[in-house]
Amino acid sequence: MTRPVHYLDHNATAPIRPEAAAAVMRALTDGGNPSSVHAVGRRARAVVDDAREAVAALVNARPEQVIFTSGGTESDVLALRGCGRPRAIVSAVEHQAVLKAHPDAAVCPVTADGLIDLAALETLLAEAQADGQVVVSVMLANNETGVIQPVKDVVRLARAHGALVHCDAVQGPGRIFTDVHALRVDLLSLSAHKIGGPPGVGALIATDPAALQPLFPGGQERGKRAGTENVPGLAGFAAAARVVAERWREEAAVLGTLRRRLEEGILAAQPQAVIWGGGAARLPNTVCVGLPGVAAQGQLMTLDLAGVCVSAGAACSSGKVGPSHVLQAMGATDTAAREAIRVSLGWSSTAADVEAFLRAWQPLAARAVA
Ligand code: PLP
Repeated sequence: MTRPVHYLDHNATAPIRPEAAAAVMRALTDGGNPSSVHAVGRRARAVVDDAREAVAALVNARPEQVIFTSGGTESDVLALRGCGRPRAIVSAVEHQAVLKAHPDAAVCPVTADGLIDLAALETLLAEAQADGQVVVSVMLANNETGVIQPVKDVVRLARAHGALVHCDAVQGPGRIFTDVHALRVDLLSLSAHKIGGPPGVGALIATDPAALQPLFPGGQERGKRAGTENVPGLAGFAAAARVVAERWREEAAVLGTLRRRLEEGILAAQPQAVIWGGGAARLPNTVCVGLPGVAAQGQLMTLDLAGVCVSAGAACSSGKVGPSHVLQAMGATDTAAREAIRVSLGWSSTAADVEAFLRAWQPLAARAVA
């Protein structure tokens, strides 16, 4: 008999939704290159066109503003390198994809709650002193803490200084209202596998795609991203996008209830536990919890043995747990930044998953030092 697995790591990757898995299989079986003029090629082209509509609708963009990519990472790099701005300002809590994308990026600090420091941003924008030279990149919500950034305030400041704004919204759809029009950003990154689609496919929404320089020049995506389209991936992305567009409010309400129970249980088991970003507005699915005196790596191992899958702040490619740069930017000591784990819920999460976490975490909580 296999042991039940309690998967609470949706911010790393969400389990594929059945609708998306079915769409991937269908497109994989159908085959075809969308650039071929014959019937099979035309059928593949129809899948790509349909995906463009579904993804545009998910974030209230126009289909022609959607550039398909290999995922959130490529979308972030395309936005920052392709926008043609010689300087960037990025928040200190961005994903590595953003932090490493631009060759000349100034890092804007965040507050203790993980919110971009708007006064510091204004100073950095004023120091840049050059209209039309800067792109500001701020995420919609943080993948480790769930903290939601004041993107509209960032846009207001950036506009006053003639800067473009890119928003890494990879963790937004399915969790909170994510609308490129309402946010008023110029560029917005999305990733299919965070919403129950397949990994290895994403999109950059560009309000003015003509102004973007490609990383891979060539024919596809109207010259903005060459390479044969990942048709099965796009079919899955479209299916997940449609399900999310239809159900996200309902799902987010359930997540909020589960997360409340999770946080109550955590604090009841150990009042010294730290909920990082707890004073800010956060995604309804994410809890980043620090346990003083108990290393994240040990917590992950104990939880894993109990069949509970969660993450530490930052997992290096080696699989080792490093101190989280996000928590460090929020003022955590090196030690505290190594003691936090992230629990992230999603469409497949149940009350039983939350109770399993709390049961497995209880003995760890008892080991915390005040
Ligand atoms: N941006 C954020 C905020 C993320 O959480 C992730 C995924 O971890 C990415 C970008 C990268 O997305 P992908 O895995 O699709 O390359």
